[in-house]
Amino acid sequence: MPEAEIIIIGGGIAGVSTAYYLAQLGHGVTVLERGGIGGEASGINAGGLGGIGWGVAPDLMSYLTMGSLEEFKTLQMDHGYDIEFRQSGTLQSIHTPQQYDYSRDRMIHLRSRGYSIELLTARDAIAFEPGSNPNLPGFLYLPLRGQADPLKTTQAFASAASTSGATVLTRHGVNAVSQVPDGSWRVQSSWEHGGTQEFRAGTLVLGAGAWCDPVGAMLGIHIPIVPVRGQMWATAIVPPSVFHTIGSVESLHDWSLSSADGPDTPPELTHQGANRITRHLYGRQTKGGEIVFGGDRQLVNYDVSQDATGIEVNRDHAMEVLPFLRDLPIQRTWAGTMPFSLDGKPIIGKIPIRNNLYIVSGLASSGFGRGPMAGKLLAEYIHSGHRPTVLAEADPARCVSES
Ligand SMILES: Cc1cc2nc3c(=O)[nH]c(=O)nc-3n(C[C@H](O)[C@H](O)[C@H](O)COP(=O)(O)OP(=O)(O)OC[C@H]3O[C@@H](n4cnc5c(N)ncnc54)[C@H](O)[C@@H]3O)c2cc1C
Repeated sequence: MPEAEIIIIGGGIAGVSTAYYLAQLGHGVTVLERGGIGGEASGINAGGLGGIGWGVAPDLMSYLTMGSLEEFKTLQMDHGYDIEFRQSGTLQSIHTPQQYDYSRDRMIHLRSRGYSIELLTARDAIAFEPGSNPNLPGFLYLPLRGQADPLKTTQAFASAASTSGATVLTRHGVNAVSQVPDGSWRVQSSWEHGGTQEFRAGTLVLGAGAWCDPVGAMLGIHIPIVPVRGQMWATAIVPPSVFHTIGSVESLHDWSLSSADGPDTPPELTHQGANRITRHLYGRQTKGGEIVFGGDRQLVNYDVSQDATGIEVNRDHAMEVLPFLRDLPIQRTWAGTMPFSLDGKPIIGKIPIRNNLYIVSGLASSGFGRGPMAGKLLAEYIHSGHRPTVLAEADPARCVSES
């Protein structure tokens, strides 16, 4: 039976970055991934990276976004991985006078806390992003935000983990987990080509994204993370036409007004059941030349079939911001599953109801941009035995229970 000091279940950005930083700290790590590295949300997302600065009193969000930005930069600029990282900045469109007032107040509030954000007229925005709509009331500009290729990045973290000594095993779907009386873990995985393999480890890390709850069920625990579908569309390859990541404040404004979430519904979704409650938007042009956009966040269990109406609503929204998109038909669409916690906060740290058990998940709709620092903070916690202060906000003890 192969033995590892630490086993990580899940080869998305959360799992492989945790493996990388643990291996860097000298730990023996094995990652078990049932598909390929980045085969789920981490490899198919929009590639947008958050970050508005550290602010005067950095909180968990500042650490996860700004810390991750540094890790993306390091991976590309110091370790030589071409992950198509670019600190491009983001423009968020404003569509109504109400959204304008909301955006102005938000900008004033965030700037007073030391964050980098500006309010632009549409005329000024065109100087940054020539294809943007001159008739909109304005744009928020977030200069520190960035972008990177999601699949290349996730695979680069896995490769850096392997180079640092970690074992990364794909096509290993974990189907049974048990803890023996000495506190160590037995993990059984089944192979794509049939057969099973058993592993033994002192410490177990759950990094299974939207599948954390079903994996938790193998251990008899309930992890309140639900799968939320995000879907996207892409144009054909076109010459450079979009220079920032693009968003809209419409959903942020609507979410600031409504508190319609129930106990079984995460905050900040675009739908309540089948009914749309807002339009959300994010997109960019990839280095390869496709313009990609998405936005919907819908609770449909693990269904990743695409909803054509949602794609059309999203395209209309994008065309309001970048009118030239009207001439670019959709070439392909896809969907993936995001790990949303029920209270909207990440779940990162030690699960106290079992010995030697940790989790890095609940990264929701922005886990690509937050995953590397989530992995780094968890690795520091496991290595030192002391919880980084900033992880108090993400403590699994608040929500993980016996099932
Ligand atoms: C359409 C879309 C657009 C998005 N856009 C952005 C964006 O622009 N910016 C951003 O920051 N975020 C974005 N996100 C969110 C982001 O992709 C996720 O938050 C992030 O990738 C989650 O990473 P993860 O490692 O936790 O989960 P995942 O990437 O889902 O990885 C979990 C892994 O665990 C594996 N696994 C599950 N069960 C088992 C098992 N039993 N045994 C072994 N392995 C198992 C899965 O196969 C999977 O590979 C988007 C997501 C989607 C779907």
